[in-house]
Amino acid sequence: MKTLKIAIQKSGRLNEKSVELLKNCGLSFENYKSSLISPVSNFPLEILFLRDDDIPEYVQDGIADLGIVGENVIQETEVKVSYLQRLGFGKCSLKIAVPNTDDIQSLAELNGKSIATTYPVILGKFLKEKGITSDIRTISGSVEISPGLGLSDAICDLVSTGGTLKSNGLKPFADVMSSEAMLIGRAGSENEDLVQELIQRIQSVLRAKETKYVVLNVHKDSLPAIIALLPGVKSPSVISLAEENWVAVHTVIPERDFWDRISQLKQAGAQGIVVMPIEKIIL
Ligand code: ATP
Ligand code: MG
Repeated sequence: MKTLKIAIQKSGRLNEKSVELLKNCGLSFENYKSSLISPVSNFPLEILFLRDDDIPEYVQDGIADLGIVGENVIQETEVKVSYLQRLGFGKCSLKIAVPNTDDIQSLAELNGKSIATTYPVILGKFLKEKGITSDIRTISGSVEISPGLGLSDAICDLVSTGGTLKSNGLKPFADVMSSEAMLIGRAGSENEDLVQELIQRIQSVLRAKETKYVVLNVHKDSLPAIIALLPGVKSPSVISLAEENWVAVHTVIPERDFWDRISQLKQAGAQGIVVMPIEKIIL
């Protein structure tokens, strides 16, 4: 059997979460910082630790079967890869930002202005779509200092909290794209079975992250109202308690509307609510 290869970032913003995801999939490997390749001892897989910029091409060219990388990098490198799964981390946006003192109102005012970026391809497409001609200055890093140095009128850079912009006297002006970490692969991989197995493991970990396991006690009279509030994987389990007419309800609740759901359950008569994390959900 052939060994599958997955490329992840060697160090940087996506490294830790990528390693954690693979470990949560039950894969056992050393997170060597010094070596480029780490074998997985309990799955036919090798992990390649790379600069994030190189990951899309490695996947496109078949050097790696899979990769974990930000959508921003995939689009900037213009490679042909398939998007297999959004991973829910590394969220950020590519934004155009201008100095705080700038009273720019419309995108059209960027005509003839210079914009410094490390994302000339994405920015170029965005401006073309909007019919704007700006002077795109491609630089390789520290974009946020370029207006202060007089190198450009504006910048286009990745933003998550906006703290870096603020501390450099800049304000966000327009959204170019939003991005998150993505599992990518290649159509027609010769290791399709293993790829599918790994995708399923990843999906079971992601599903578990989005849900909580909840156990609550309720009087039998309130049970129909409680059940009506619960989605569950199929339907909730109802287990009799030693105390007559009382039951324990076991279910899973989506993380996104968790607190709303809990207060509805309390109003409907739920007591002694216990919430637990879930490791995996295999459908
Ligand atoms: P490498 O050494 O691998 O080339 P890098 O310096 O290019 O690393 P990082 O800064 O580690 O990249 O960011 C990796 C990815 O994390 C980005 O491409 C983006 O998808 C995501 N990301 C999330 N939040 C941010 C942010 N605030 N700034 C930059 N990138 C972010
Ligand atoms: Mg990089």
